[in-house]
Amino acid sequence: MEKKNIDWSNLGFAYQVTDKRFVSNYKNGAWDEGIMTEDATITLTECAGVLQYAQTCFEGLKAYTTEDGRTVCFRPDLNASRMKDSCERLEMPVFPEDKFVEAVKAVVRANEAYVPPYGSGATLYIRPYMFGSSAVIGVKPAEEYQFRIFCTPVGPYFKGGAKPITIRVCDYDRAAPHGTGHIKAGLNYAMSLYQIVDAHEKGFDENMYLDAATRTYVEETGGANFIFITKDGTMVTPKSDSILPSITRRSLMVVAEKYLGMKVEHRPVRFDEIKDFAECGLCGTAAVISPVGKINDHGNEICFPSGMDEMGPVTKKLYDTLTGIQMGRIEAPEGWIVEI
Ligand SMILES: *Cc1c(COP(=O)(O)O)cnc(C)c1O
Repeated sequence: MEKKNIDWSNLGFAYQVTDKRFVSNYKNGAWDEGIMTEDATITLTECAGVLQYAQTCFEGLKAYTTEDGRTVCFRPDLNASRMKDSCERLEMPVFPEDKFVEAVKAVVRANEAYVPPYGSGATLYIRPYMFGSSAVIGVKPAEEYQFRIFCTPVGPYFKGGAKPITIRVCDYDRAAPHGTGHIKAGLNYAMSLYQIVDAHEKGFDENMYLDAATRTYVEETGGANFIFITKDGTMVTPKSDSILPSITRRSLMVVAEKYLGMKVEHRPVRFDEIKDFAECGLCGTAAVISPVGKINDHGNEICFPSGMDEMGPVTKKLYDTLTGIQMGRIEAPEGWIVEI
């Protein structure tokens, strides 16, 4: 397969149009077969459900080249089942999970020339999403939907290695109890934009959200789950019904326990206990783990002993093991690596 002439190691995390995308339409109560198309645009009624009442959800996963030259993606079945959960919560029709995985594979296959080579640090980011496409003016679910998957090559999230970031405790909430924080809905991002722009203006990289009801427990950032390492080497990760269940975080829990022999705790984490932790990281598909060096709580700084120069040692081991599994250098648990 002839690869595109792309400067892989200098790619940023930005959209770049690729050759083919998958499109399937839901009409009269059923999904059609779906097609691969070269048309990267969408024509919609001005009154589409997605445009009026934000009826849309999405997923994100990656394909890449392993050390031995295979094209693979990581746990796409979990994206399929998470999208099912999102659709059910938003009164959208579920796209069948097996067909979701097949469509992901078809999109990668059709854009194989954009899958970055092993060792470049770049990956092919895959974006499945669904939206209400028929006209809705009275508040109700749309009758017609479109499910699409496109992909775009993205660079290493951190060029020149992952430098620890500084985050701040945010005064706004991300998700209410019994709300939509646990699903991957576009609306959760729309309402976080004000906070992230404000954080960046004030010199912070991300917002740490606390639980909306009591503001005493740690939830997550706008788009990544927290992991903490205690001084005696236990991995602690917050549990709450309003946290989005990150596939990276769930995978890291398995890596910590089964590969590194660590103790893992998935439980509510009080904000006032994190000052005693040794390391902190943010996890998600885009960066795998972003190390956090410092948390600013209204001027009071919590500085992790791992410092601001590099990833903490335990975080680094987790990162190296998970990326090793993804890249085929370390044997993966059954079903984690799906060959295209
Ligand atoms: C997508 C997302 C994550 C990360 O999930 P992964 O499956 O690891 O990519 C974390 N938090 C939020 C709010 C998200 O939308």
